[in-house]
Order: sequence, then structure tokens, then C-alpha cells
Amino acid sequence: MPDKQILVTRSSMPSFEEYCEEIKPLWDTHWLTNRGVKHVQFENELHDYLDVSYVSLFVNGHSALECVLETMDMSAGGRNEIITTPYTFVSTTHAIVRKGYKPVFADIKPDDFTLDPSKIESLITDRTCAILPVHVYGNICDVQEIQRIAEEHDLKVIYDAAHAFGVKKDGVAIGNFGDASMFSFHATKVFNSIEGGAIAHDSEHLAELLSQWRNFGITGADHIEYVGGNAKMNEFAAAMGICNLRHVDEEIQKRRKVAERYFENLEGVEGLRLVRPKENVEHNYAYMPVIFEDEFGATRDDVALMLSRRGITGRKYFYPLTSQAECYESVFDPTATPIALDASRRVLTLPMYADLALEDVDLICDIVKNAPRMDRN
Ligand SMILES: *Cc1c(COP(=O)(O)O)cnc(C)c1O
Repeated sequence: MPDKQILVTRSSMPSFEEYCEEIKPLWDTHWLTNRGVKHVQFENELHDYLDVSYVSLFVNGHSALECVLETMDMSAGGRNEIITTPYTFVSTTHAIVRKGYKPVFADIKPDDFTLDPSKIESLITDRTCAILPVHVYGNICDVQEIQRIAEEHDLKVIYDAAHAFGVKKDGVAIGNFGDASMFSFHATKVFNSIEGGAIAHDSEHLAELLSQWRNFGITGADHIEYVGGNAKMNEFAAAMGICNLRHVDEEIQKRRKVAERYFENLEGVEGLRLVRPKENVEHNYAYMPVIFEDEFGATRDDVALMLSRRGITGRKYFYPLTSQAECYESVFDPTATPIALDASRRVLTLPMYADLALEDVDLICDIVKNAPRMDRN
């Protein structure tokens, strides 16, 4: 067993003192959840940081996504199909299925792994009600083209922006695209509130509906108009979010340095493919995906094994495709999205977090580059 372990991620935390200071007032009020002062403050601060019209907080990103799907009620006229990507965390697909919709999988673009707009239109039927793309690894979807298709066919667009906290394109903040965007503040994300999530959107009406649906559908004293669930964020989570938000810009800058070091080490190595953020994008460096092409000689699985022998965790993110999960066996056909299927077999995300030492990045890259290759002649 190697004496040093490097995990694929490490949760950001404020100092112990900073968090204690933030939660101290809760001992005066004994108000622990149900839109307390920390909830209100966190929502306001996120509204400014994310630069969107409305932010609705949730206990986690997955519940936020389920809640927006049920709240937007897109199923009029029996429309129940949502065009989406299988190259994502299983939450995206589960939310669609659990809310009674049918995921229809379109393939991804090989260069940045986001939903390929040119694959969407042929999948639209008179049952299609929405498109649910994912800004995977913080890479921005082709938002203009997706919007054009949606408008032409009268479809809603809901983004899974779980990876894209703080990302901007041409100065426009990521939460402003589509009808709504889901953010996750899970411990492993660029920004966390331990567990937490939000929907960003531009509708006062939706804000009201979401706050009712996340609280059992209660619409006022003595009034319960909807069959809602419970997906409220508590005060301790909101306080953690408030603290972490103070430091998130600095954290992203540190992530950028880590990413630059990976690029310096690995760019140009034959058979390795990395994704550099585009010029007009403010990226968040959420993950460090590497694609292992055949020319590299060693497979993704070989490299993952070499790393793990040295105490370093890479993550096969995303393998399997959501359409390949056991629970969807014989429901979906993974070969319908060959590019996503190929990427899922070749990708390894390398350790990435703000405090990852640059020497450790060098060590990781040395192990990757020196993975035993098959004879290439
Ligand atoms: C993390 C994640 C989710 C779920 O968010 P939680 O806050 O963990 O519920 C959904 N989609 C993607 C792409 C994610 O990475």
C-alpha cells in the first residue's frame, strides 16, 4: 500500500472558525430549516454570483432537477419524451424516468462531450416536450443551436449545469441559457454546501411554484394545492454555502493552475486527448478528463490500474453510459450513441482540486506517460 493517497477530488471547506461564526446565530433563533435567515442570505448571494434572474435552493441537485421537471408540467397532450445525453451522471437520466418521462438519447460531440445539436432534430416526434442537455465537465453546450431547435419545435430546454458553477460564455453567466438550469452543490463539486442544489431561471411564477413544490405543495396556511415532495435546504447547509462562496473564485484560480500543469505535461503526447477551454469561455476547471486513443498504446483501464497501484484514484467518469446501467438493461440501446459509447470506454478523469500540489500533478502525469505500452510496430 503506498503511504500517500491522492483521491480524484477533495471537498472545499472554509476554516473551522469561519463556519462556527456563520452558524452561531442559529443557537439564538433555533430556526434550522424552512427558509431561515441563512437560506435567504445564500439565495441572494447566489443570485448575484450566478448573475441570473432567480435562484431557487434545494436539498440537492437531483431533487432540484426532479422538482423542475414536475413543476414545469410539460406533458400536456401526452407529450412525454425528453431528448438528452447518456454521457452524464446517472442522476440526469433517473430524474427524467422518475418523473414519468421517457429519455431519448442523442449522441455527443467528440470534441467536448456535450450533446450534438445535429443529432437532435431527427429524434423529435410529436411526443417530444423538452431537451435536457448537460454542460458536462463544465464545457458549455452549443446553447444557440439548441435554443434555435427548441424554438422551432416548441420545446422546453432544461440544462443540467451540475458541473458548470461559475462558468461564463462571452461574459454571459451559464445559468441564463434555456428555460431553467440545475446546479449541484454536492461535496465533490467545484462549489459545495455539503449537499445542495439550485434551479436558476427567469420566471417569478416558476420561483413561486418551485418553493411550493419543494415544501409538500403547500401554498399557504390551510392550503395544499400540489402533490409536492420535501426538498428544502437546511440552515447548516446554507451556512456552508455562504462560507464557501467567499472563497470560490480563489479556488477556481487554483484549479486553473492545476489544469495548466496537466496541459503542460500531457498535451502533445501521442494518443492522449485533452479538452482545453475555448477562448471566449471563463471555465471552472471542474474535472480533468483524458481520452486514451488506440495510438497511446495503453488502455484507459491499464492507466487506471497503474495509478491505483501508486495510491492515486482516477475516475471512469462517465462509464458506463447511463443507458448501459443495469437498471436500464434492455430498456435502452447504448449503441444508438456510438460516440458517447466510445468516449465512455476511453475516458479517465485525473485528480483535480484546488489544493492539489503541482508536484503531485507532475507525478500523476509521469505515471500516465510511463504506463507500459503495447508494442506499436
Ligand atoms: C452531481 C450531479 C448531479 C446530481 O447532483 P446532486 O447534488 O449530487 O444531487 C446531476 N447531474 C450531474 C451531471 C452531476 O454531476
